[in-house]
Amino acid sequence: MDFTLKTYQSLLSALKHAGYTFQTFEEFLSVPADGKVVVLRHDIDKRPENALRLAQIEHASGVKASYYIRIVKGTWNEEIIEQIVALGHEMSYHYEDLTITKGNYEKAFEHFKVHLVEIRRFYPAKTICMHGSPLSKWDNRKLWEKYDYRKEGIIGEPYFDVDYTKVLYITDTGRAWNKTGVSVRDKVEGGLELKVRNTHRLITLITQNDVPEKLIINTHPQRWFNFGWGWMKEFVCQHIKNVIKKVLVAFMH
Ligand SMILES: [Zn+2]
Repeated sequence: MDFTLKTYQSLLSALKHAGYTFQTFEEFLSVPADGKVVVLRHDIDKRPENALRLAQIEHASGVKASYYIRIVKGTWNEEIIEQIVALGHEMSYHYEDLTITKGNYEKAFEHFKVHLVEIRRFYPAKTICMHGSPLSKWDNRKLWEKYDYRKEGIIGEPYFDVDYTKVLYITDTGRAWNKTGVSVRDKVEGGLELKVRNTHRLITLITQNDVPEKLIINTHPQRWFNFGWGWMKEFVCQHIKNVIKKVLVAFMH
């Protein structure tokens, strides 16, 4: 069964065993590690509780990831944001301001700045990532044709600040890896390519050293569930208890 939390964990293990260093997107841009590096980029489009589960699994595996959350109702959840940040992950804004303001650039930029401040209440965000808004006619990235996110203290946006001829981008958009037919905007142009049927195949390629040294793996947490959740819950809960303790201890000192 694919897109289960257990499969996700196997993916993390495969990356670790293959010698990958896990960096947040911010670290990847500002202090890039040598050799094999993977950035786990998560777009929280909906079901933020699923994102928290992935964040917990990653923390239990000793790795960091980058989370981008939409500010829309049903997705934005401050309790969950706080918990993901406490687990040591990067957290920032999954922006869609141009869609929200129906193409009004001025309003969109004001809207962007207000919500960047909001997210910075929880994390000193230095990167951002656009929401693809597949059903909208507005391409949220176009905001940056008129404005400059660098002036707002942002050092990177995955669609503009990564050289995809050197970094392999793989995304679970459409519940398959790099399934080009289903992604409207969640893709990059002219970069390295790898088509894989399922996560198990991706794991095999990683194990065999058949993937590039630099990877950005984009997942949408709402797609990742566990049908055998009882098993996983046990596993994760054990770790979470320890994690919460560790976090509490760290905050009290
Ligand atoms: Zn999105």
